[in-house]
Order: sequence, then structure tokens, then C-alpha cells
Amino acid sequence: MPGTRPGMTEEIMVATKKRHAEIVGGGFSGLAAAGALAQRGWSVRLHERSPELRPSGAGIYIYENGLRVLEKLGAYDEAVKGAPFAHTREMRDENNKVLSVHRWDPSKRVFSVVRQRVINAMADAARRNGVEIVLGSEAVAATPDGELIMADGSRHKADLIVAGDGVNSKIRDSLNLVAKRKPLPDGAIRVLIAKTPEEMASGDGGTTIENWSGSRRILYTPVSETEVYIAFTMLHSDEIGKRTPIDKPDWKRAFPHWADLIDRIGDDARYDRFEYIRLKKWSSGCVAVLGDGAHALPPNIGQGAGCSMMNGLSLAYYLDREKDISTALSVWETNERPLTEHTQRISVFLGLPTTWPTPLRRAFLTLAGKSKWLIAQRTKTARHVPVGTEDMR
Ligand code: FAD
Repeated sequence: MPGTRPGMTEEIMVATKKRHAEIVGGGFSGLAAAGALAQRGWSVRLHERSPELRPSGAGIYIYENGLRVLEKLGAYDEAVKGAPFAHTREMRDENNKVLSVHRWDPSKRVFSVVRQRVINAMADAARRNGVEIVLGSEAVAATPDGELIMADGSRHKADLIVAGDGVNSKIRDSLNLVAKRKPLPDGAIRVLIAKTPEEMASGDGGTTIENWSGSRRILYTPVSETEVYIAFTMLHSDEIGKRTPIDKPDWKRAFPHWADLIDRIGDDARYDRFEYIRLKKWSSGCVAVLGDGAHALPPNIGQGAGCSMMNGLSLAYYLDREKDISTALSVWETNERPLTEHTQRISVFLGLPTTWPTPLRRAFLTLAGKSKWLIAQRTKTARHVPVGTEDMR
């Protein structure tokens, strides 16, 4: 067991023994929990099944709440280096007419960033804090009393197991925790493309554009000095729209004003369907589930990773305050779950117009851009001060 040395008396071992966590998944949730636990003196080993930490999904928006967590983890500067500070989001219709303009409150930061950069920054910070990251290491199950079972048959005992292994979490399923798992009617293809010299010269990386045409959407987001993140969203039933590599002539018919941009898309693309997941409980014994495995949601307000990181940090925060692990996990869930569920509800709600007829959707989007109530609901998670970051400016 890490944290003990041969020759120590049992008494000294109890006094000095580090608590040990085995973490599954090297995404936003697993890395946040790993870094935050290691900062609090835990010995931490993180298992990532892939041979490298390589997130899918190209770019990502990270709002004030998630940025505060990155700061606490010591990953902020590296994560946002070169990324534009997002200030304006335009919603446009099929004729490229602006339906609404949202300007973010400048006191609340929003960055659009290359995912790989954020994951690298989180992994570097975690390693600096002593986390052991084991690549090519797949876990398949866990027991409530703290045993992690690996694909190669080996077993690891821990005080705490954290499942951050994504929507198809094997650890969660081995504990029978799912209350509801629902595929949603839409999904997305996400890619990064190189900026043109004109885009680089324009200097304004802070305006993002969400452009609708029928039930399809193109989201244009500059994410670095040299790259733009493009998300194509469509109904899951839209067989041509979700085809990869993307069907350029078909997308150009839907978005003629984006024809030049569509021509720049490469062949390397992947389609992901959106999902909603709710658990009976976020933990079982001393196994905690967090991130998409516990609370997947559609990306309509860009808060899946934000919630994953907040819940990773808050998990470590409550474990630091409660001696008994299962009590700490209950307190964690009682305090953190309501905001995550609000985020899920509002994200699902904002996805409903995808299936509506165009005139109704247009009316909704125009109104949604003006409704103070809806803006407050939509930005509640971004404005939230995550537990464990209250002492920051
Ligand atoms: P994942 O990112 O899925 O990471 C899980 C990790 O676990 C992976 O590295 C995987 O290889 C590993 N793994 C899986 N199984 C095992 C196993 N058995 N053993 C070992 N390792 C394993 N969120 C935002 O905050 N802002 C956005 O702008 C945003 N945009 C999005 C756009 C789209 C189209 C989509 C689909 C999602 C978006 N999200 C966004 C949501 C965000 O991507 C997720 O919420 C986030 O990635 C969840 O992180 P995670 O660590 O829980 O899971």
C-alpha cells in the first residue's frame, strides 16, 4: 500500500499513513479529482486505458466556474495560454441573419480552448502534485469496499476509488448505479481547422457564431492563435448530416454562406450522440462516480466538463473535512448534486428546439436571447463559485 514503509509500527503507520485513491479515467473529471486529492496529501494513482491522454472533441468552452477549478489545481496558465477570451456569441439563422447577440459579463471569464491543451495542463499539474498516471491501464469493475479490478485480472485496494471513465463507465455499471440513461435526439461532429491568414490577421478571436439551418447547426469558435473549432450538430436521424467524413456538398446546401469554411474541413472527424445520465446515487461504499459517467448532459450550455471539474475538486474538499469516506461522499452528493442537476435540466431544455419546426425554433431562439430569466438560468453554473475556490479573488 503506498504511504507505508517496512519496519513502521502499526501505531506510527496509522498516524502517518497517506490515504490512497485509485482513479479511473484521464479526462476532465478524473484529472481534477486526482490533482485535488494529491494536493490534500493523498497518494493517487490514475488509470487511463488509452496509450496517451488524448481527449476527443477538438475544442471546448470553459467558463468562470471551471477556470477557478483549473486555477486551484495549478493548471490555469498552461491551459488557457494563447486561447482567446470569449466575449460575444451571435446566434444566426439560415440566411446568416443575426437573431440575437449575447455579450458575456466581462467580470466572468470564458475561454474557448483546444481540449488537448487543457488535458495536458491538468495532467502536468497532477503529476507535479505527485499523481502517478498509468497509461494503457484499463479498469473493468470496482467493489464498494474499495477494490479496483483491472482488465488484466489484477486488483488494487484503496481507501477511495473514483470512476471518471465517461458515459460508458464500466465502474459505475459494475455497481448498478444507473437510474436513467437516455440517448438524446441530436449529436455532433467536432473538428479543428487551421485559421486562414485573414482570420489570423483579424485579431478578434473572441466572437463565436452559432448558426442554425433547419435542425442543423454550425458553431464557429476560434480556440487559439492558429486554430478554429467547428462543431456541426444535427438530429441523430439525419443520416447524411452525421456522416463522417462530413458530406460537404450537403452541408454547403444547408449553409451556402459557410461554403469556404466547409471546404476547409479535413477527413478526420467523429460523430457523438448526446446523452443524459442520472444515477441512483453518486457513490457506492467508497467508490465515487463523477463526470459524464454520473451526469452526462447535452452540450447546450458548455458545462459538462465544468461540472466534472467542479465535482472533482469538491470531492477532495469534502473528503478533507470528513474522516469517514462514505459520510464524506454523502455530504459531497447532497451539496453538489443540485447544481449539476440544474445544469442538466437547462441543457436538456435548450436542446428541445432542435426538433421543432423552423418558425417556432426561430421565435424561441430570439426570445431566449432576450429573456433575463432564461439568461440567469443558463448562466447560473458559470456564475457559481465552486466549493474549494471561495478564497480566490
Ligand atoms: P471523458 O472526457 O469521456 O473521459 C473519460 C476518460 O476515461 C477517457 O480518457 C477514457 O479513455 C477513459 N476511460 C474510459 N473507460 C476506461 C476504463 N475502463 N479504464 C480506464 N480508462 C477509461 N463541456 C464543457 O464544459 N464545455 C464545452 O464546451 C463542451 N462542449 C461539448 C461539446 C460536445 C459536442 C460534447 C459531446 C460534449 C461537450 N462537453 C463540454 C462535455 C464534456 O466533453 C464532458 O462533460 C467531459 O469530457 C466529461 O469528462 P469525463 O472526464 O467525465 O469523461
